[in-house]
Amino acid sequence: MANAVTEFDANRQPHRRFNPLLREWILVSPHRTQRPWQGQVETPGSKGEVEYDPTCYMCPGNKRSTGNVNPHYQDVFVFDNDFPALLPEGQRGCVNEGNLLVAETEAGICRVLCFSPKHHLTLSMMEPADIRAVVDCWSGQFAELGTRPDINYVQIFENRGAMMGASNPHPHCQIWSTRTIPNIPKTEQESQLAYRAAHGSCLLCDYFQLEANSRERAVVENEHFLALVPYWAVWPFETMVISRGHVASIEALNSAERDAFSDVLKRLTTRYDNLFQTSFPYSMGFHQRPTDGKDHPEWHFHAHFFPPLLRSAAVRKFMVGFELLAMPQRDITAETSAERLRAVPDSHHTF
Ligand SMILES: [Zn+2]
Ligand SMILES: [Zn+2]
Ligand SMILES: [Zn+2]
Repeated sequence: MANAVTEFDANRQPHRRFNPLLREWILVSPHRTQRPWQGQVETPGSKGEVEYDPTCYMCPGNKRSTGNVNPHYQDVFVFDNDFPALLPEGQRGCVNEGNLLVAETEAGICRVLCFSPKHHLTLSMMEPADIRAVVDCWSGQFAELGTRPDINYVQIFENRGAMMGASNPHPHCQIWSTRTIPNIPKTEQESQLAYRAAHGSCLLCDYFQLEANSRERAVVENEHFLALVPYWAVWPFETMVISRGHVASIEALNSAERDAFSDVLKRLTTRYDNLFQTSFPYSMGFHQRPTDGKDHPEWHFHAHFFPPLLRSAAVRKFMVGFELLAMPQRDITAETSAERLRAVPDSHHTF
């Protein structure tokens, strides 16, 4: 079914859209966008203007709960998570009772990466050159953890803002690396492999081209990257950042591509902040090839941003009811979200 199109009004007609990376459907209900909101309203967090917080466990020179003292770092700083979800060593074992009670031990390394010594900055407020230092650090961590025989996947992610459960405003991300490949990258890997086998080309190279031609869902772009609201987005202002070149990991980006990635991250997060005039909360992270020593020509490096906000700094989307029990659902279309993000500046903050 190469280009099967039977037109319907996607701005009025309820429909479902297919996510080719996860191979699942999401429900779009554009006719509902006018319904009044009587639900929960969040209190927007304070902007946390201090450059140094003596009680912060990530600020330079401070002592952490383990007694370790942070160095007086100048750009980025990486340390092993003091309360890691995974441990590098331990027992090895498994459980299988009738294929119903199934478990196995897992191992891994969890690290924290501070983006900046300044407590109050966000990616959107950092200088491009300072973001570039973060990109190089992401690449270095991916390479270092990935060469360990006991680590087969490196998941880099940032929870930004109290609404996303970030317990500390200091700009940082987490790097959880595991022996096994987690569910979502595993599914995306299988989808990319299947697409390559069926079409002889890369799923995300083809998708990049389609979006770059249509521009309907584009949000920010430069020579090497395109940030867009994916056709199948679940979260109201969800975006993906896709590299123009077919590279399997952040490590494979050349210097010009790393600068371009820094530029797109800064401009995209600035648009996010300007949309609702708030330091925009989100979970973001990268998907890239596993570090299992095999060639992964099917993998195309990309980032996902999943922001919870729906219609203001104070009103978020919840994943409940139908979404937990049946399938994800959204009201505002991906095209409208992209249009709204394009309508605010990406060069400076408007508040
Ligand atoms: Zn701090
Ligand atoms: Zn590709
Ligand atoms: Zn992905």
